[in-house]
Amino acid sequence: MQVILDQDRCCSSGQCVLTAPEVFEQSDEDGLVTLRQEHPAPGLHADVRLAAVLCPGGAITASEAAGAP
Ligand code: SF4
Repeated sequence: MQVILDQDRCCSSGQCVLTAPEVFEQSDEDGLVTLRQEHPAPGLHADVRLAAVLCPGGAITASEAAGAP
């Protein structure tokens, strides 16, 4: 799985950080979310998929295309 984050669409709701804190990190200063890891372990995939569904900005893409680790 490859996680792609579009910061331009992020409205800093923090939902992803609550759902998958191992993968998403929110800056205390400006509220912007960054990726802690682009290729999370299989055990985290369900949380990442849920975060993508819940993201109000549609900023998270979880790609499981062939070849994505
Ligand atoms: S859930 Fe989406 S909009 Fe909210 S902080 Fe995370 S990436 Fe940004």
